[in-house]
Amino acid sequence: MELSSSATAVKGVGDELAKKLAVLGVKTVAQLIDYLPRRYEDYSQVMAIRDARPGPVTIKAVVKQASGRYVRRGMHLTEAVVSDETGSMRLVWFNQPYRASGLKSGAEYYFSGVYELSHQRFQMTSPSAELVSDFTVNTARIVPVYRETKGLTSKQIRKAVGSCRHLIQTMPETLPEWLVGEQKLLSRAAAVLAMHFPESGEQLAEAKRRLGFEEVFELSLASLLNKQELAADASLLIPFDEKLAKDFVSHLPFSLTDAQRKAVWQIYQDMQSEHPMNRLVEGDVGSGKTVVATMAAVMALREGYQVTLMAPTELLARQHADTIYKLLEPLGLSGELLLLVGALTTAQKRKAHEVIASGKARFLVGTNALIQDTVDMPKLGLVIIDEQHRFGVEQRKGLMAKAGHMPHLLSLTATPIPRSLALTLYGELDISVLDAKPPGRQPVQTEIVSPNSIEPVYDAVRRELDAGRQMFVVCPLISESDSVDAHSAEKIYEQFRKREFKNYRLGLLHGKMKAEDKTAVMQQFVDRKLDVLISTTVIEVGVDVPNASVMMIQSAERFGLAQLHQLRGRVGRGGHHAYCYLLMSDSKAPGKRLRALESSSDGFRLAELDLELRGPGAIYGQLQHGALDLRIAKLTDVTLIAAARRSAAEFVSRGEDLLKYTELAARVQRLRTVTNLN
Ligand code: ADP
Ligand code: MG
Repeated sequence: MELSSSATAVKGVGDELAKKLAVLGVKTVAQLIDYLPRRYEDYSQVMAIRDARPGPVTIKAVVKQASGRYVRRGMHLTEAVVSDETGSMRLVWFNQPYRASGLKSGAEYYFSGVYELSHQRFQMTSPSAELVSDFTVNTARIVPVYRETKGLTSKQIRKAVGSCRHLIQTMPETLPEWLVGEQKLLSRAAAVLAMHFPESGEQLAEAKRRLGFEEVFELSLASLLNKQELAADASLLIPFDEKLAKDFVSHLPFSLTDAQRKAVWQIYQDMQSEHPMNRLVEGDVGSGKTVVATMAAVMALREGYQVTLMAPTELLARQHADTIYKLLEPLGLSGELLLLVGALTTAQKRKAHEVIASGKARFLVGTNALIQDTVDMPKLGLVIIDEQHRFGVEQRKGLMAKAGHMPHLLSLTATPIPRSLALTLYGELDISVLDAKPPGRQPVQTEIVSPNSIEPVYDAVRRELDAGRQMFVVCPLISESDSVDAHSAEKIYEQFRKREFKNYRLGLLHGKMKAEDKTAVMQQFVDRKLDVLISTTVIEVGVDVPNASVMMIQSAERFGLAQLHQLRGRVGRGGHHAYCYLLMSDSKAPGKRLRALESSSDGFRLAELDLELRGPGAIYGQLQHGALDLRIAKLTDVTLIAAARRSAAEFVSRGEDLLKYTELAARVQRLRTVTNLN
């Protein structure tokens, strides 16, 4: 049996069992070993029968007698009496007819199970039993509990993994020895064995520390190496022109917040340094990222470079173009702007090429795909990436190939990424945080609404609409689904049109509509030709309609906290008092997530909470980082993360050769392609 052998190589695993293991994604011995428990049950305290109290108990006892019988049709009962020096105990099992014959009279076993009162008698019900030995898997220990599947129990998995324990003990170390020593880590083999069969709570904690450390170390190393690679590129110098910056600011209808000023200053520093900028501007919805990005663009344009802004949707691309046009106008630069959206005909594409090639338009705004395959940009100096987390190494290389050099990269995101996560995942990025909103913004008044208290909400909304405001309604689904009990945009649209909002102008917007229809509906809403816009989450990012003051979210319990917060950020941008109604599908008590949203408007605080409640998956989901699997490390474990990051830096500064560590190298290589936000 080797790590790469099929699971059937494991003693006791036949074809039947192998099939079931495959359902869990376990096909090889290595995968079986890597299949870590979800939780544990502590049956490690072996006690005298006399001391047994109701609850989980382990005893070490000799079988006095055991027999089985059918108590009625389809109900088999096995009864046994076992004893130690202090007394005897009755054990029962239901529907396990093979039990009695498996228990040898006179032999000594460990029994672990729940001791309880049943029909006026104390007994242990359905305990696990194992002959007394040095190595048990189901009894007299901290017992691992695995994710199970139909017909496959944790017991069977324990047995199979237990059969691999000698192989586990010979697994090679994956980290450098100096690091294992310096951090006082368990060896990899010891840690993996202890994850499955911990000898104590302390040993389990040490196993988790070792494996969690390794995970974060790998991630950190991956991003450090990416950063190094990036730093090896020479940049296009874009010198800071103070007069231009001042000129730009003087034409704004507001003054920059301190946070914006600082971000802009950091960007200008980056653009005039020797290496290409790779910066993320992270700011809650409405924090004013567009102005910051435009100020970066202006500097690049002045220097004669081309600039692109890539947005995730056409809608956003249009909106950005509108906003940026207005910002560039006073400087006489608006003619530089070219919007690339929709299905361009070949002729239109050629036209765009000409305009770009002639240098007439040097600032391209559009969707990612369109910009990437329409345009040749030899003088590309700055790439702005809005809300696109999939812009990784590959895309970066693509740009490089196109332009022949690495342009400066500026990412914008409204997803508040908790600091611990940002440091680990995006160590290669420099981050500017817009942590202060422009002055005068009022928090959005947020209310959880159950189905039976909806009427007053409709009244309140109608008053808002009558005062000239507009409302967004967001639904989790486009159309009705049999399998999911949640409101769809189509259904709500029909309902509102016929009933609650029949006197108002309603629009419907969802992802399955044609691009031009979507844009048309959105435009109507922006132009106030619609009072209510009913949509799916397509409006989620970036959409700016200052006159909208109400956000109504249907089946709010189906959305993640971070997502709800983003949706809420669509309103309250125009100085009007704004409302967010979180409609529940049923009258159950709202969960912690919705409650948190009601009481906090701090995106970072909410993101931290989301991380605690749902684990990193919540934020990965948002960032579409499915390939990352932090299974053990907790991103809230600041000490572990700091140590692992320092160690990754040390690995690099020691001049270690990654290729010396085959397994580590393979994993780091994989992570290098997915960890980058850009
Ligand atoms: P986001 O960070 O969500 O992309 P935007 O850039 O769309 O935010 O800005 C939101 C709104 O705030 C816009 O209408 C913008 O004009 C306005 N804004 C930006 N900066 C300031 C500021 N310093 N003071 C007042 N309003 C501002
Ligand atoms: Mg924006």
